Amino acid sequence: MRRFLILALLGGAIALPAAVPVRAADPIRYRFSFPEPQHRWMQVETTFTDLPSATLELRMSRSSPGRYSLHDFAKNVYDVHATGADGRELATTRPDPYGWNVPEHGATVTVRYKVFGDRVDGTYLGIDTTHAHINMPAAVMWARGLDDRPIAVSFVQPAGMRWQVATQLHPAATPFDFTAPNLQYLMDSPSEFGPVAMRQFSVGGRTFRFALHHTGTDAELDSYVKDVEKIVRTEGEIFGEYPAYEPGNYTFLADYLPYANGDGMEHRNSTVMTAATSIANGRLRLLDTVAHEFFHCWNVERIRPRGLEPFDFDRADQSGELWLAEGFTQYYGPLALQRAKLVDLAATARDFTELIEAVSASGHLLRSAEEMSRMAPFIDGGRTVDRTNWPITVISYYPFGGAIALALDLTLRDRSDGRLSLDDYMQAMWRKYGKPGGSREGYVDHPYTIADAEATLAEVSGDRAFAHDFFARYIQGHDVADYGRLLARAGFAVRKRNPGRAWLGDLRLEASGGASRVATLVAPTWPLYAAGIDQDDELQQVGGQRITGDGDLASVLQRHKPGDAVPIVYVDRTRVPKTVSVTLAEDPHVEVVVGDANAAQREFRERWLRN
Ligand SMILES: [Zn+2]
Repeated sequence: MRRFLILALLGGAIALPAAVPVRAADPIRYRFSFPEPQHRWMQVETTFTDLPSATLELRMSRSSPGRYSLHDFAKNVYDVHATGADGRELATTRPDPYGWNVPEHGATVTVRYKVFGDRVDGTYLGIDTTHAHINMPAAVMWARGLDDRPIAVSFVQPAGMRWQVATQLHPAATPFDFTAPNLQYLMDSPSEFGPVAMRQFSVGGRTFRFALHHTGTDAELDSYVKDVEKIVRTEGEIFGEYPAYEPGNYTFLADYLPYANGDGMEHRNSTVMTAATSIANGRLRLLDTVAHEFFHCWNVERIRPRGLEPFDFDRADQSGELWLAEGFTQYYGPLALQRAKLVDLAATARDFTELIEAVSASGHLLRSAEEMSRMAPFIDGGRTVDRTNWPITVISYYPFGGAIALALDLTLRDRSDGRLSLDDYMQAMWRKYGKPGGSREGYVDHPYTIADAEATLAEVSGDRAFAHDFFARYIQGHDVADYGRLLARAGFAVRKRNPGRAWLGDLRLEASGGASRVATLVAPTWPLYAAGIDQDDELQQVGGQRITGDGDLASVLQRHKPGDAVPIVYVDRTRVPKTVSVTLAEDPHVEVVVGDANAAQREFRERWLRN
């Protein structure tokens, strides 16, 4: 029985050598080639050896690290063939839409397939005659149960090209060969294969590489990388040190190309940044992405929420901590630009305005920051065909979390007269959760929970009640911090953008055929909501004036004051005519401006913004 089984596994074709040394499993090999890049597909060949006899379950990922919605990458895979060691084709089945099973096979199986990809961003695959921009989950078919096998990847130069590879994968024998210690690391290793311009610099004993595929000049890149280095230095100062990047360096992978989609995606030892703009035209916006993504090499890649560790490629990964993982990063990106002196105070004030305006929107009354984080699988690249009411019930955890970070930073500084700050909190999170690292490369051994994040605030502030109150009110509750008071300590003023202006809500009207349709959802905090008016209703008269568009509405409101009651004649979308009375409110929108700071405010601001 036993002997029979061994022979069956070997396919009965070859005899065992006299002594087989015990050794680790061969790596799983992937070979990427590009026979027709102009048609935007790549050929993948992958070989699995030392396979157990059970059904080989080949999968395409449904999700991708750092992007929280489902993408079902199997949809672009076709012409799939599995063969045994003897080259004979093996039968496959489709147990579900996401994979291929090979029920009967020997110890070695090679799978060949084509995969189409025509999107240059942080999630998908982009193949054309200028490059192969590869996000691994969009390209790689993997075998269930073999997550810990080492992996070898080779890139085949397309005919007539002189492309090179930029990646966080470990270098191997040739410039086209790389390795990954396991599946988690491979999936986290996007690779740019193209005419890459590479620059390198060192900070704090670490090497940083900037790999760029663009249409600009070398001089633009040289000057740009100097600013990137300033950001790397500034953010290193926040944590006091850099992570130990496993391949020996950290790589920025940038595609600034007219046919790229704007994106930034963090990985352990690299980031992908794509934009349709150029260094010449969009420098500051591009640097903002650099500042955001680089902060992630601490926050999220190593200081990692438990819900994301290890990343599950079979489903949408959920975390209630994205207000910290993404939101605090959203706060620190622009702050680093300010501290690196790449922007002026007015620009930073505009960033604060965005955060405060976002957290003040009606959605904060309905979903807490923790609950907003759990919406990520639906809103982060997710698609729906049905209408949702997200515009009035969802606030992105990016600005929501950014606003919480602003409040927490200023509160810590305020309570301690500048001795403590959010930097101390991030350092404490780094020491407890990030720095200990993982016993296997690509993994984090001590991911944190929301309770851990609160306990760390208690430790840093030395005040458990304060930490509990802050989390209960602003993260798990529905309060909005007093930004006016907090920012005043640094000499910023929060003021009404349009003081005294009458306001019905931020509605937009769509004019067609002399009628004015309400083209936005009506939020519960708008005066119009109480009147029962909503999307698709048609405004006919406001305050006695005929309304044919936004201009008419603005002129009516100009003639009124907050508190005035105005009649509105409208037709609801079932064509029933109605008349209601609406009491106008004052335009609630605020802006942060740089005020005339006294000496104490200037000192507070200098410690915070280095300005
Ligand atoms: Zn991010």
